[in-house]
Amino acid sequence: MSEHRIPLAGVIGDPIEHSLSPRLHGYWLKTMGLPGHYIPMRVSVDNLEQVIRTLPKAGFVGCNVTIPHKEAALKMADLVTDRAALMGAANTLIFRNDGQIHADNTDGYGFIENLRQGAPSWDPKAGPAAILGAGGAARAIIASLLEIGVPEIYLSNRTRTRADGLRSEFGTRIHVIDWVQAGNMIDEAVTVVNTTSLGMVGKPELRVPLDGLKPGQVVTDLVYTPLQTQFLQAANAAGCTTVDGLGMLLHQAAPGFERWFGQRPVVDDGLRRAVLGK
Ligand code: NAP
Repeated sequence: MSEHRIPLAGVIGDPIEHSLSPRLHGYWLKTMGLPGHYIPMRVSVDNLEQVIRTLPKAGFVGCNVTIPHKEAALKMADLVTDRAALMGAANTLIFRNDGQIHADNTDGYGFIENLRQGAPSWDPKAGPAAILGAGGAARAIIASLLEIGVPEIYLSNRTRTRADGLRSEFGTRIHVIDWVQAGNMIDEAVTVVNTTSLGMVGKPELRVPLDGLKPGQVVTDLVYTPLQTQFLQAANAAGCTTVDGLGMLLHQAAPGFERWFGQRPVVDDGLRRAVLGK
């Protein structure tokens, strides 16, 4: 891209109307005084490859990809980071000057940075993590927790075979617990994470017994609508340190923004308020 062009980026998904990413990147561009635009793009599965191949010609320096395109975007890429390969999915694409597409996955990074910021004394190496859910998001959480040295992970999912699959892939530091026993894995854990969609607006509540929650534990929920899920409310009431899921979304956006627009953004209260529309 020639230097005088205003850099463009955006997020591709289907649907895309509810994405918070345009507000998030728009806030950073404005407050940091940087030239650039970030737009939502609704693109069907059939048109994905053609759209992505065309974007660099229109001045795009990269984009985020979200449901249902994360796996397909990874396959289209010429260069893939180790963490994106491990996830089997990309959420951040960088269009390089030489025409190559570089794919990254920043979900695990966003998860860890959110906990570091929200619970500064969190020591993930101090003991096991308990993870509820074994879907797409759980993969990123497991990979990132293992990478930073969590000694063991207790993993429970309604559909046990999915959790068993993650254990086969990630190894013997993962222990799979039956869904009906999920409450039992909580009391020994230093870190407790809900990666299921339970508790989200429009979904059933998480019904796992939470009497094992206690002070000293760091508890986080990937669900951020509502911000204070019943799971986090129970953890607060039990004296745990809690971190809501919005921060993961905010932090996962930072590496892409830096690559596209040239400066590292900060995740702070101003950003949170802007994204929440407050
Ligand atoms: P996914 O691949 O569809 O996985 C959904 C998970 O929820 C699976 O473990 C599934 O269990 C479980 N689940 C769904 N309904 C259930 C029920 N009735 N009873 C028990 N378990 C149930 O979705 P995902 O991509 O992993 O996303 C999971 C959640 O994380 C979503 O709410 C998503 O919005 C959120 N998320 C947040 C961030 C963030 O930045 N904060 C990032 C990514 C995702 P089964 O395997 O048994 O179906």
